[in-house]
Amino acid sequence: MYTFEAIIIGQGIAGSTLGLKMALAEKKVLIYDYQQNEISSKVAAGIFNPVSGKRFTPAWRAMECFEELHRFYGKIEELSGRKFLHTKPIVRIIPDPGTGNDWLSRISDPRIAPFVDEVLDDVPGFNAPNGAIALKMGGWMDTKTYLHAAYEVLAGNGVLEYPYRMVEPEYVDGMFRIGETQAPLLIDCGGIYSMKRFPEGPFTPMKGEILTIYCEGLPNDRIVTGACFLCPIGGHRFLVGSTYDWRNIDLELTDAAKDDLVERLEKFMPLPFEVIYQQAGIRPSVKDRRPLLGRHPENPNILLFNGLGSKGVSTAPYLAELFMDYLYNEQPLPPEIDIARFFK
Ligand SMILES: Cc1cc2nc3c(=O)[nH]c(=O)nc-3n(C[C@H](O)[C@H](O)[C@H](O)COP(=O)(O)OP(=O)(O)OC[C@H]3O[C@@H](n4cnc5c(N)ncnc54)[C@H](O)[C@@H]3O)c2cc1C
Repeated sequence: MYTFEAIIIGQGIAGSTLGLKMALAEKKVLIYDYQQNEISSKVAAGIFNPVSGKRFTPAWRAMECFEELHRFYGKIEELSGRKFLHTKPIVRIIPDPGTGNDWLSRISDPRIAPFVDEVLDDVPGFNAPNGAIALKMGGWMDTKTYLHAAYEVLAGNGVLEYPYRMVEPEYVDGMFRIGETQAPLLIDCGGIYSMKRFPEGPFTPMKGEILTIYCEGLPNDRIVTGACFLCPIGGHRFLVGSTYDWRNIDLELTDAAKDDLVERLEKFMPLPFEVIYQQAGIRPSVKDRRPLLGRHPENPNILLFNGLGSKGVSTAPYLAELFMDYLYNEQPLPPEIDIARFFK
């Protein structure tokens, strides 16, 4: 039997990021991941946007998250020799004059101001009669390349196992056992699959569909968001997304989602394009749209690092810092992300 400090289940964005942080801090950890193509982390557009939503709202702990994401992913790019983080301006088209007044009144908010690059009167090539606001420190991550880079770094440290099925740890004499391996702690980074192990958990999974289009003549140096986002990924291809559907939790590709995204795109992008690809995934979202970290209410040796919802790319590195402090330095988790908030 091989004994580790902790076993992590899942090598999506959550398990990769936490596993890398632990392995690089020389913690004796082992990650199990059943490789599947349609996990949320492989379908994600990978956009990291510091100020989003109709109300131009700063992301949760935006500066901490965005500083840590650039530092951490930059380090993994260096260690792996792979490029996956693409920092680009995010141009947010103002939908109407009323919303414009609202957004412009917010750009001096100290939580938003550091991310504002410039206010634009128009966006050449797009329908933007009310102008736009360009943001900095955002961009997109090629998530498949990140998972691959993480795989290489983790496998190089001997901490990764790819089983041919979902693993089901046994709990025997205070140890979680999988095959010939065991650990006193189990860290669940299983995304929506954690719901099976934790059916009473506060998950509200959210299906998303996303398109890849081919379009010549569009600039590829920025992400533009209007009624949806348009993110350049090279070779005249752009990601267009994404939908939010909490009713149909399946991986079916629907015409309704495709038509909806095409219609939204045509509102602000006048060039002809062709839809070349459509994908669906399920985000591991939580009732109150906050991450879900901390100890399982019934067995404190099971920890969750989950609930990354629609923002896994931007939050995972900072959340992993908080989680490591919680685990090794007895620092409490912020109450708004601690799973204890649901079990008082
Ligand atoms: C359409 C769409 C668009 C999105 N766009 C963005 C975006 O632009 N920006 C952004 O930040 N986020 C985006 N997201 C959300 C993002 O994908 C998630 O926040 C993130 O990927 C969640 O990662 P995770 O590691 O928690 O879960 P997952 O990606 O689901 O990974 C969980 C892993 O655990 C493994 N696993 C689970 N249980 C077991 C077991 N028992 N044994 C072995 N392995 C197990 C699974 O096989 C899987 O590999 C999007 C999601 C969707 C669906």
